[in-house]
Formats: sequence, structure tokens, C-alpha cells
Amino acid sequence: MSAGIDIPLFIRQINSKNDLGAAKTIYDANYFGFACGKVCPTEVLCEGACVYNHSGVKPIEIGRLQSYAAAKALDKDKKFYSAGAPSGKKVAVIGAGPAGISCACELSRHGIEVDIFEAKSMPTGLTLHGVAPYKITNTETLAEMAWLERQFGFRVFYNHRISTAQDIEQLEKNYDAIFIGIGLGETAGLHIPGENLENVLGAVEFIEQLRLHQHRVSLPGKVIVLGGGNTAMDAASESARLGANPVLLAYRRSREEMGAYGFEYDLAKNVGVKALFNAMPVEIIGMDRATAVRFVRTRNDNGKVEAIPGSEFTETCDWVIKATGQAKGNPLFRLIDG
Ligand SMILES: Cc1cc2nc3c(=O)[nH]c(=O)nc-3n(C[C@H](O)[C@H](O)[C@H](O)COP(=O)(O)OP(=O)(O)OC[C@H]3O[C@@H](n4cnc5c(N)ncnc54)[C@H](O)[C@@H]3O)c2cc1C
Ligand code: SF4
Repeated sequence: MSAGIDIPLFIRQINSKNDLGAAKTIYDANYFGFACGKVCPTEVLCEGACVYNHSGVKPIEIGRLQSYAAAKALDKDKKFYSAGAPSGKKVAVIGAGPAGISCACELSRHGIEVDIFEAKSMPTGLTLHGVAPYKITNTETLAEMAWLERQFGFRVFYNHRISTAQDIEQLEKNYDAIFIGIGLGETAGLHIPGENLENVLGAVEFIEQLRLHQHRVSLPGKVIVLGGGNTAMDAASESARLGANPVLLAYRRSREEMGAYGFEYDLAKNVGVKALFNAMPVEIIGMDRATAVRFVRTRNDNGKVEAIPGSEFTETCDWVIKATGQAKGNPLFRLIDG
């Protein structure tokens, strides 16, 4: 439910004006206390489990309280932790996302020397490159990372992708253990004609561009977002906020079967996104650039999506964003299996 944080304790500490004590309670259980308070889907996690829900009262805003207390520690640069007495052990961490960094913090606390190897030029993985920017800013994300580095002193080597069997062998030779925290891959393919046209973007890559270019990204015209998960909602909301009009969210199943949280869908609707349900893309049409998407209507046949023959229709577009999930097979695993 929560990340094992003692929520009642930190709320009591805030209530008794012990904000730094509350921050310590949070960070003892979760090294991304500030970021999680900002980005967690609290409505379905801690706040969803709040007893107030049973009495029809608005739940306590646990996420907001959490990031409030955590921010106090960051603002004051409060030193809570330090590296443990050297154990003589060394660990290589691949990937400076939340998983890799949390691992590095924990190991450093136990006196284990840690080097992190990160493919990109910046840390925190999808917190910086994927989470919708209205939830957390780059400055906030990087401030928490810098604070953690000051607490524990692990090293991060940026622009350092581990990509060959030799890289792995080298790590095996130089370290006692390797932690792999590389997350998932790029946006998964749809396997339909036209998906590689110029103006057909992956949702994860699209949001990454927004985050890196601080919203100086232009997306004029009509955008069709394909998918029904939270990333599809983020991509649709962000397109609408960038001025795209109209923004059409097309999902191959029904509204009820959509994986996205209800509040994420509501956010998208509130910025003008229109939805098309039971519509499965079969082709993206265009020469160099996509000009339309051809869909077929669907129905649910015992849990399976079934195309309804003769129900094809097209929607014109200026951009297509594929929000079809992240590919699971990071190429690195193939090297290790081999
Ligand atoms: C678009 C999007 C929006 C999201 N929004 C939310 C949200 O609002 N709230 C929420 O709680 N969660 C959200 N998530 C999920 C959350 O971002 C992930 O659960 C979290 O980032 C996973 O952390 P991780 O460390 O496992 O992986 P990642 O964050 O993916 O980090 C992996 C790191 O490893 C690096 N790496 C990969 N391969 C290599 C290699 N071979 N060598 C070296 N480095 C490598 C990557 O560059 C990256 O920095 C979202 C995810 C996406 C895709
Ligand atoms: S905000 Fe809620 S769900 Fe997220 S870490 Fe904190 S207690 Fe857990």
C-alpha cells in the first residue's frame, strides 16, 4: 500500500510541528520521499486506503503532507544519513533510476562502496524523463537526487550505457555484485503499417522531450493518442496543454476496461481531450507523414478484443502518439542470458 512508511507517525510529527522528524520518518522508509509524495497515484494507494473514505469524508492528503515534510529536509539540507563504516565490498549499479539510486543509498548506508553507471546524462530515470511535468518539476527532482548524493556519497557515471558482454565482464571483474536497475524499454510497437512514419511518436519518448525541453515543444493540429493507460492520459493531457486541438484518445476496448486511473482520465477530459472507445487502429496512413489513422470498431468477446467486420473508419490527424506500454525486453538482459 504505502512504501512501508509509518504514515500515522509522520502525520503526528507534522501536527506537533516536528517537520524534520516527519521527514526522517519518511526517508527512513523511502529515499524518494519527496518525489513519491508528488507523483504517487495516492488516490488508489495511501489515500485510497484512508479510513475517512468509509465515512464519506475526503481522505487525508497524505501525499501532500509527505512532500511538505520531505521538502523541509531538502530546503534545510538536513543531514540524516552518512555512508556506513567501509566494509571493503564494492557494488556496481546499472541505471540511475529510482530503483538504482535507492539501492545505492541502502548499500552505502551499510558501508558498501557503490558506482552507478547511467546511460543518460541525467539521473532519476523516468521521474525526470517520464512522469508528467505538472506533477513534479526537473528542479525538484534533481534537488532530491543531489541531497541523496550528499548524504551517501555514491558515484554516478553518466553517459555510460552498459551495452556489451565486455562491459558486463568488466563489472564482474571489478565489483563484488551488480544490481540491475534499468527499468523497462522504449514504447512497444503496434505492429501495424505506418507506425514508423515521421510524425508517429512514442508516448514515453514524447514526454521525455517535453521534460528535457521544458515544454518548448510545439504540437500544432490534431493529435490522436492510441492507448488507454496512464501514459496515454499523460500524453493526451500534455498534448492539449501544448495547444494541440483536437486531441482524440482512441482505445481499443471500452471505457470500463481502460487501465488508466479514473482521476487521470478526468484530468485529460478537463483539458479538452475527447475519447473514442472500442476503436482499434489497423493502419496509419500517409507517405512520409501520417495524415490519418484507419480504425475498426471492436467488441468484447469473452475478454478478447474482436474486430467487427465492415466497421472500418478513418480519422485524419497531424500527429499520432502511441501509448502502447513500454517494451519489456531491455537488450541488456539478452547479454546476460547469453
Ligand atoms: C510516461 C510515464 C509516466 C509515469 N508517471 C508516473 C507517475 O505519475 N507516478 C508514478 O508513481 N509512476 C509513474 N511512472 C512509473 C515510474 O516512472 C516507474 O515506476 C519508475 O521510474 C521505475 O523506476 P526504475 O528505476 O525501475 O526505472 P527507470 O525510471 O526507467 O530508470 C532506469 C534507468 O536505467 C537507465 N538505463 C537503462 N538501460 C541502461 C543501460 N544498459 N546502461 C545504463 N543505464 C541504463 C535508464 O536511462 C534510466 O535512467 C510513469 C512511467 C512512465 C513511462
Ligand atoms: S504518497 Fe502515499 S503511496 Fe506514495 S509513498 Fe507516500 S504513503 Fe506511499
